[in-house]
Amino acid sequence: MHHNFLFDLDQTLLDFHASEYIALDIVLRSNGFSFSDEIYRAFKACNKALWLEFEKGTITRTELFTRRFQDVFCRYGMDTAGPDPLKINDDFIRTMSMNGVLMEGALEFVKKIKENIPNARIYIASNGVAANAKGRIVSTGLDQYIDDCFISDELGVAKPDAAFFAVCLDRIGEPKTSCMMIGDSLSSDMLGAKNAALDSVWFMPSGNIREAMAAYDINDCASSFDELYEILRCWSSIGR
Ligand SMILES: [Mg+2]
Repeated sequence: MHHNFLFDLDQTLLDFHASEYIALDIVLRSNGFSFSDEIYRAFKACNKALWLEFEKGTITRTELFTRRFQDVFCRYGMDTAGPDPLKINDDFIRTMSMNGVLMEGALEFVKKIKENIPNARIYIASNGVAANAKGRIVSTGLDQYIDDCFISDELGVAKPDAAFFAVCLDRIGEPKTSCMMIGDSLSSDMLGAKNAALDSVWFMPSGNIREAMAAYDINDCASSFDELYEILRCWSSIGR
């Protein structure tokens, strides 16, 4: 039996926001538009509002992908008669997938697990678009340490649904006592682990930590990769 570590991807091992920033800069400039921190913040705000609309069912996925660029172009007086916003969106997603950014120390951390914890296996358990997630994983070299990837849009079910973890466990093929979920999000990672009755470590905790740990049945918290490594090393050394 192995020690099966299921890692969330974004803001746990990879920095989603940094990739998004790089991709937006490249794509806007290469299409003749300007780019600034202010434009990035406007895009983020617009994107967030549109995702909420999409989740409520009031707009389609195509409208979301069109308007997140169109609305920003209009707001900043950019030439909207130029490239098709949907083409810009495709460029943006492709560019982002080629520009993964590691959380500082993440690569050394996964390498250390593989080299020092006997029988450790590393899995990615992420909500998102598979092409984007897998592209960023490969572009950072993280892929050489990963045993398998579980991405919600390929599985057809997402965290925190226990069904997501049922698929993961089925593919891992080992008992749930050998698995641990590690992630930064209470609402997807920690709640998911609770729903699936898996051990969990909350990475980079914030807010009322004690209260959250009790509410989500969290085993442990780590505020750095060094702390996280020690927790995983101890957990692995206990016979189970
Ligand atoms: Mg995350």
